[in-house]
Order: sequence, then structure tokens, then C-alpha cells
Amino acid sequence: ERIMEIRRKNCNPMTMKITYYKKPVFLHQGYMQWLWDFDGNRYLDLFAGVATVSVGHCHPKVAAALQRQLSKLWHTTNIYVNPTLHEYSEKLASHLPDPLKVVYLTNSGSEANDLAMLMARLHTGNFDLLTLRGSYHGGTQQTMGLTSNSSYKYPIATSSGCTHIMCPDVFRGPWGGSHCRDSPVQTTRQCSCAQGHCLANDQYIGQLKETFATSVPSRIAGFFGEPIQGMGGAVQYPKNYLKEAYQLVRERGGVCIADEVQTGFGRTGSHFWGFQGHDVLPDMVTMAKGIGDGFPMGAVVTTPEIAASFAKAFHFNTFGGGPLACAVASSVLDTIKEDDTQQNSHNVGTYLMTELAKLRDTYEIIGDVRGKGLQIGVEMVTNNKASRDPLSPEAMSEIFEDIKDMGVLIGKGGVYGQAFRIQPPMCITKEDVKFFLAVFKKAIQRYMD
Ligand code: PMP
Repeated sequence: ERIMEIRRKNCNPMTMKITYYKKPVFLHQGYMQWLWDFDGNRYLDLFAGVATVSVGHCHPKVAAALQRQLSKLWHTTNIYVNPTLHEYSEKLASHLPDPLKVVYLTNSGSEANDLAMLMARLHTGNFDLLTLRGSYHGGTQQTMGLTSNSSYKYPIATSSGCTHIMCPDVFRGPWGGSHCRDSPVQTTRQCSCAQGHCLANDQYIGQLKETFATSVPSRIAGFFGEPIQGMGGAVQYPKNYLKEAYQLVRERGGVCIADEVQTGFGRTGSHFWGFQGHDVLPDMVTMAKGIGDGFPMGAVVTTPEIAASFAKAFHFNTFGGGPLACAVASSVLDTIKEDDTQQNSHNVGTYLMTELAKLRDTYEIIGDVRGKGLQIGVEMVTNNKASRDPLSPEAMSEIFEDIKDMGVLIGKGGVYGQAFRIQPPMCITKEDVKFFLAVFKKAIQRYMD
């Protein structure tokens, strides 16, 4: 372990932040929802390498598909007819509604969003792009412009033409908006809107319209929105918020892009794509992470009309849609169906959220439980009832490391690093959830004692 620590310090950049810095874990093996370190300790993985392992670590069916392709063909690039790419594209497109049928394959989510930025600008002839505050859309220099969270960006190198909008109080859970969001678990907290629970919230929509009237350019190229914010801490928007945003964007000549990098492939349980929970039809859908169960891959799916605006120059991506990635991704789609992964995400996720909501009603420091399916955020707060300040990074770390020491890996996120994130491989069971809940309770209790 020490050798590994020295290698990391000497050869890797400071930007490579290790989550468990007090006592790092050295993972070297995985199977389905389980990971093992070099000492043979087993961990229940509830973060899936940042919401990426969709059907399970080294899933036997996916591993077999990769093995088959490994001994057949690794690489040609798409200057040749590439059967795996064409077959996969057709299969992926069949999972999207019309007219979203043209598939571009990339190697990551940032690449996918970068390409979508370009296509939005080419198609509309406009330059300005909008995203929501708290969003994460990538780490390339262009996509850093889309990403709003300042801890992930370097303003001097960030692309221009990107504005981040959102009504301020939608940010943090029950202090605005939680009652309005699309959730399988109803909040018991006081509703702060005028209309009551789960109604279209005119106040938020009003703020959105006001923002467009005052701070949004009159012509825009496009709007990027995650159906549920991932890195932002499983932030959900009030009902009809995205729908209204899509309309306002289209009125200004822009196209709408659903960033499904975290929410796609059944993660939200009730739908295959997160956007389907918002009653909207995007012009482009970008995806990555779960698409390849951990194998590097990404995609943009768009309409023939938008694709036609992007046909002048030769567009080339050496590795995008390579045979290995396509074989894996194709098997992931089959496995989601065969293992009933989306339904499991709904069932186990709803159970977990229901149980977490009970803990929230017991422990003052759990401010909010939100999300859908297996994309869940637990907002941690101080016990100051009036301010509900985010729990400090030190306190978050203490609980987080304790949970790890008891054998469960979860994630962290949110603009203040105040939310625990649970986005496991979608094969987890109710038994796993019970184990996690016992661990989580113990860690909170220990922190408070
Ligand atoms: N979009 C979203 C919503 C993401 O969460 C991420 C990664 N966390 C990205 C885009 C960028 O994906 P990648 O890291 O594969 O470039």
C-alpha cells in the first residue's frame, strides 16, 4: 500500500483527488455490487465509480461479450464500415423516441457534450448556451464553460458564451422546491409555496420567466440540463420547470439538450431516460457512464435535421464507437432488459428512499432526501433549524470515512459538498439496502455522540 501511495504522489497530479484521504482504499477487484481491496476486505459499492457501473462490476454477460470481441477485432476507426458500430447505433436509437435517431459515438461524457455544443451552435447559428446552476457537464475546456460548479473549473480557461441560470432557492432541498418535484417519496416537511404540495409551482416558473426576460440573450444556441443533477447532489427541479425552460429556450431559437450522462439507462427507475420524467422531448440527448458499465464510451443522439447542419466538415473520432466499446454497450442494453435492471432500480431505489426519509424524520442533521430510482441524494445540515446550513466538509468527511470503514462506499456532491450520493450498480438488493441503512445510522449516531 505504501508503494502505491508513493507512486501516486510522485507520478499523478494534485488534481487527482482521492475521496478517502484519511485512509485510502486500494481496490483491485469487483463483482456486481461488490468491491475488494488488497487485504481482502469487501465493500458494498453504492457509488459505482461515480454512477458509471450500471449493470454490475465485471457483469458476466458483459464480460463475455467483451471477451468475444477481444479475440475478433479491436480497432478499425469509422473510416471503414464498422458492423458493431452500425448495429449498436440502431439498437441505441431504438431506445429513444422519434425523431432522435442519429447517433454519434464518443469516448466520454465531456466529449459528447462538447459535440452537442458544437452542433447546437452550427444548427441555430447562435452562440450563447444556457445551463443550470449547480450543473456538471464535463471537464474539457469547452464543457467547463457549461459546468456551473466553480470547484470543477478554471475560469481563465473556460469557454465563453455560457450562462448559468436557475432560481436561487431551488438549490437546496426542502427550503424550496422539494414538495414540487417528481419523487416516489413525499416530503413531510412544510411546504413553502403558495399552491400546496405537488402542484405546478407558479412562483418558480415566474422566476424562470423573469430570469429569461432580464438575463438571457435574445438569441441562444441551446440549453443543457441534467434531468436530475448528479454532481450537484441529486438536485431535482420543481415540476414543469424543465418543460417551461425548454419552451423559453425554443422561443429564442435554441435547441434543448438532455444531459443523461448520469440519469440514463434506467437509473431513475420509472423511465429509461431521465427526460421522460419531465414530459419533454429534447433535440439532443448526451450520454456516457452507464452506457458501457465502466467501459469508456459516450454518445450524442439527435435528429436528422440537426445532424444535417453538421455535415459540412469531416468529423473524426479515432476511438469513438470502436468495436470493443460497441460490443460492451450492446451487451449492456441486452443486460438491462434481461436482468430487469430498470425495474430493480425503481423497486430498490423507492425502498431506499422511503427508509432514508424515515431517518430524515428522526435525525435533525439529515436535511433532505431526494432523487428517483437509484439516483439518490441525502442532504446533510447543521442542527440550526432556522438556517439549515450545510454540514461542514470536516463533518461530512468524518461520517463518510466511517461508512467506508464499515464496508460501504458512497459518494459526495453538492455545491457545498453537503450531500451524500447513492448511485450504485443497479443490481443491488433490498438486503444490501438494509445493510447500508444500519451502517449509515451507526455513522450518524457516532458523529452526534
Ligand atoms: N455530464 C454529467 C451529468 C456528468 O456527471 C459528467 C461526469 N461526472 C459528465 C457530463 C462528463 O463525463 P465524463 O467524465 O465521462 O467526461
